[in-house]
Amino acid sequence: MTSFVKAYGATAGDQPLNALEITRRAPGAHDVEIDIAFCGVCHSDVHQVRGEWAGTVFPCVPGHEIVGRVTAVGQHVTTFSVGQLVGVGCLVDSCKQCEECNAGLENYCDGMVGTYNFPTTDEPGHTLGGYSQQIVVHERYVLRVTHPEKQLAGVAPLLCAGITTYSPLRHWNAGPGKKVGIVGIGGLGHMGVKLAHAMGAHVVAFTTSESKVAEAKALGADEVVVSRNAEEMATHTKSFDLILNTVAAPHDLDAFLELLKRDGTMTLVGAPSVSHPSPNVFNFILKRRSLAGSMIGGIPETQEMLDFCAKHGIVADIEMIRMDEINEAYERMLKGDVKYRFVIDSATLAG
Ligand SMILES: [Zn+2]
Ligand SMILES: [Zn+2]
Repeated sequence: MTSFVKAYGATAGDQPLNALEITRRAPGAHDVEIDIAFCGVCHSDVHQVRGEWAGTVFPCVPGHEIVGRVTAVGQHVTTFSVGQLVGVGCLVDSCKQCEECNAGLENYCDGMVGTYNFPTTDEPGHTLGGYSQQIVVHERYVLRVTHPEKQLAGVAPLLCAGITTYSPLRHWNAGPGKKVGIVGIGGLGHMGVKLAHAMGAHVVAFTTSESKVAEAKALGADEVVVSRNAEEMATHTKSFDLILNTVAAPHDLDAFLELLKRDGTMTLVGAPSVSHPSPNVFNFILKRRSLAGSMIGGIPETQEMLDFCAKHGIVADIEMIRMDEINEAYERMLKGDVKYRFVIDSATLAG
């Protein structure tokens, strides 16, 4: 039977988020029904719900950093059971038969269904995300959480911020003997520093604000560079194997490309609304450098990331909010006033 659940979302791009009632489908044979305990707040949520990215459909219920407990499973589900702690990230479905899906890279499937704002046969015709009490998801897109339950709120942001940084760090072989730069110390960047450090790389954090130097070291950076300081930047010229650039605002990429050694790669994971100025071609030619991009991660890799984080005791640094504080939290997040991720206590949806 379809269930009615409380949620929070917007009915138009120029409206604040408000309490809504939504429906969730009854679990099908391969579905897992989850009572949501916490949901992280991602920059994508703000852009989508405010209609700043093309194609927002309303009502829009954002949220794709979901953790909670299984309350029911379909008859063919064998890998999850009632009571288990689980997570759901940025995708809840894909075509399941293309080259990307077969490779476990469902995030690159052309038929990927995002956790919110993507077409679905469920009411109201598009997916509704984690700012809600409950979600029903095909088992393939549900992740096991093995962290202790008391860390559960800090696990939520791993489902987007964690995998978005973990996947490129793994793909470009961050690890012992590698010098890895993390540009921007926010929701994504703070995870990048923690993960690259745990992988055994020499981690250099880049920030524009002096005030974040001590913080970045506490997160696990071996060195911190204030990127506005040209002299400091110059001491790192031609020395990095990998730079993970998490900054979404348009900026000068050349300043970082020059820091890559031969065959080094800079990977962009921030999603700017206006693109960066084009970099100088000679910065690629002279040292055979690469500029790349990466988008979240596939389901097997997301599970690997969660298991890696559980093993290393890694969670996100969070600030917990009530559901009705979301509009204020968006304003603070846009000003960079959060260390480093807001997480909604979903119990506050009840009343
Ligand atoms: Zn996100
Ligand atoms: Zn596919």
